[in-house]
Amino acid sequence: MKEKRYDAIVVGAGVGGLTVGTLMAKEGLKVLILEQCDRPGGRAFSIKGKEISDKGFDWYKNMLAAQYSCLATSQPDIETIVKNRLLDGYTLDVGYHALSANGAGYMLDFEDQIGGLPEVKKHGGMWGNYYKGRIYHDVAGSKIDPEIKRIAKEMKIPFFSFYVDAHMMTDEQLDALEKVSFKQWADEKGISKSDVIFNHLHSVATLFSTINSPEDISIGEIFRYFKTAFGPKLMRGVLGDIGGFVEDGVGEWSKAVVRKFQALGGDLLLNAKVKKVLVENGAVKGVLVDTAEGEQTFAAARVVSNIPAQQTFKVIDKAHFPAGYPEKIERMYGYGSYCPYIGLNKLVMPEAEAKMGLKNTCVLPKSEGFDFDVYICWNIQSALDPSVAPAGKYLYTAYLPLTEKEATTPELVKKIVNRLPEFMEEVYPGFKASMDWKLDVVCWKLEGVAKSISQAGTQKVPVKSEHIQGLYFAGDTARGYGVAMDCAIVSGMICAGEILGKDFGHK
Ligand SMILES: Cc1cc2nc3c(=O)[nH]c(=O)nc-3n(C[C@H](O)[C@H](O)[C@H](O)COP(=O)(O)OP(=O)(O)OC[C@H]3O[C@@H](n4cnc5c(N)ncnc54)[C@H](O)[C@@H]3O)c2cc1C
Repeated sequence: MKEKRYDAIVVGAGVGGLTVGTLMAKEGLKVLILEQCDRPGGRAFSIKGKEISDKGFDWYKNMLAAQYSCLATSQPDIETIVKNRLLDGYTLDVGYHALSANGAGYMLDFEDQIGGLPEVKKHGGMWGNYYKGRIYHDVAGSKIDPEIKRIAKEMKIPFFSFYVDAHMMTDEQLDALEKVSFKQWADEKGISKSDVIFNHLHSVATLFSTINSPEDISIGEIFRYFKTAFGPKLMRGVLGDIGGFVEDGVGEWSKAVVRKFQALGGDLLLNAKVKKVLVENGAVKGVLVDTAEGEQTFAAARVVSNIPAQQTFKVIDKAHFPAGYPEKIERMYGYGSYCPYIGLNKLVMPEAEAKMGLKNTCVLPKSEGFDFDVYICWNIQSALDPSVAPAGKYLYTAYLPLTEKEATTPELVKKIVNRLPEFMEEVYPGFKASMDWKLDVVCWKLEGVAKSISQAGTQKVPVKSEHIQGLYFAGDTARGYGVAMDCAIVSGMICAGEILGKDFGHK
């Protein structure tokens, strides 16, 4: 058995693991990142449609399964899709993968720390809310949709409070709001007096939390995100878009970070599954790994786990933690999603609308058996980034947040899968006739820990283990703020700061 020593080992090359690993390498530590899959990115990976045609459905199924996702169904059946190479020329992210604020959130803070990623192109656009048959534009810069402005003025509703109040708040005030729901805050502010305005802000709050129910969305979490991720970018004048996509797929971002990491002297080992984090006398000693060359041990006094916290105990013995602690972490719940991709042969909406990200808070009502009305955010991804679809074709992507339980209940998945094309047909007649193919991907861990009133912010897993010396956590389940990728990135920055005794701008 070989043994090689590092200053720090990171288990997992998800965006949180890549962030902490690269920052440590930049500060001169000898770092090894171990990744079980054949590519970096974790839940933020991309596949070329051609890869699916070449390697087949079993390969695709395994790629999805490694990231808590599966193909619920497809149109036509997946064998026909593969045989007829219908996906050739498309690039598919693991599911809908828009960048919060088109990457101008914590992602930009991290990129600044590592000297930028100029080769990564991001395509942002306008976002809006589709409500009762019309589109209301989201706030962009300081521009408010004229109809929302009119209603707010007429009904004396402090619409802009949602966007500006946070910037005047102290950390203590934000912490106190963690357990307050968006609904409670909206009621107290008088926002709920107008269904148009309440629905509009609810749709933005769900976008930034992935939680459907306004009674479960932590307003403190949203406000902290606005203040610490977006506030400084407003001052810099670089916050322009609500969302956007990485050119040629979200996986390109991770690949670019890996290039930086390796240029800084870091080692990345792919197809390397960590079997065990080795712990002796309450302190981390290294890791035992399955690699293509067989089992190997790597030694380090610091190990960062980038595996979602609830799964940590697959590689670290529960006996190293106090009684009840592992079970408490395992009970933390995340949020899943139904992520359809559809290949379209024509645009059935005006081009300006195709370039928008649109949201609606009720595709299927709660009365159909869901915990709350099912929300949707959709894009014609290829209208913003033509590289993800072949010439003359268009790629539709969407995300419909589902609780972990909903995402793993076949009858509910079936209902939402069947409903989606009907809903789109209602919005854009002719939509169904323009579909060449449809893949219905469902994941049960889009967000590792849901930013709910019972789990948000300071209630999350600390980046430094309180129980094992030298053990750290980074990723969207560990202490970090904001949504999904941004949350995983800021947690990697907080974790690196903790290890290096350095302030990377966020604590
Ligand atoms: C379908 C879907 C849609 C999404 N949509 C969006 C979106 O629109 N916008 C957005 O910002 N985010 C989105 N997300 C969420 C985003 O991808 C995640 O929040 C983020 O990527 C999590 O990163 P992470 O570093 O916390 O963890 P992960 O990505 O889970 O990384 C963990 C890594 O550890 C590896 N690993 C696990 N066990 C082992 C082991 N034993 N040994 C070695 N390696 C191991 C995994 O393979 C993985 O690479 C989506 C996620 C999914 C699944």
